[in-house]
Amino acid sequence: MKKTSGDLHPTPFNKEFQWNAWKNIQKEIPEKGWVWQNIRTGKAGGAQWMEQQIYYDMLYTFRLGTLSPYAIGLLEGKLLGTKCPICGDITFPPRVNCWNLDCNLEKTTWVEMPKKGKLHAWTVCGFAAKSALKKLPFVLAYVLVGDSKTAIANILHIKEPWHTETNMPVIIKFASKEDRVGNLIDFWFEPDSSWTSGPMTEEKERIKLLCEPVYKWVKTL
Ligand SMILES: [Zn+2]
Repeated sequence: MKKTSGDLHPTPFNKEFQWNAWKNIQKEIPEKGWVWQNIRTGKAGGAQWMEQQIYYDMLYTFRLGTLSPYAIGLLEGKLLGTKCPICGDITFPPRVNCWNLDCNLEKTTWVEMPKKGKLHAWTVCGFAAKSALKKLPFVLAYVLVGDSKTAIANILHIKEPWHTETNMPVIIKFASKEDRVGNLIDFWFEPDSSWTSGPMTEEKERIKLLCEPVYKWVKTL
């Protein structure tokens, strides 16, 4: 196994992914995950704003500007989307201005979204950033929350990832108040209690097989 010197995230040159080789290489990666976060909120021009600082290999500062109510809503356990007063389109994640050309960038208004949605697209992740490795394999899902015209990506907590199905109903669960940071990691998706998975199919078997080495490898971490 070789790696290019100076690469922050070296990837194996082998065409086939070598799990054991990666186990050795990952020790050299300085990534620690979401180790530090500072949130400041305040008021400017009559509106609430939020600034976040996150350490993820390096320090990032985000000023959320007009989208601050979205992050502040997460801290309060609420999903805030936006609605255009002209065409009525609802979007979550929020958009400050309407996307419809006919609406001429009309300013949207905030609306609280229901904590349920429909799974639009998904994938099973067999690899992740270092801080999420032990959660593998997990499902990354794009969900249409409520009547939103846009989908938002987050983790779907499901016991057997291969049973995930397009269009399945999901609910949104929030982390406990003390653990919320005003960020995507404050919530996740779970299958709605009304949903039961369909029978195993050829495709589900294929995905299950692909998950096996991941489960095995994660146990060694
Ligand atoms: Zn519009």
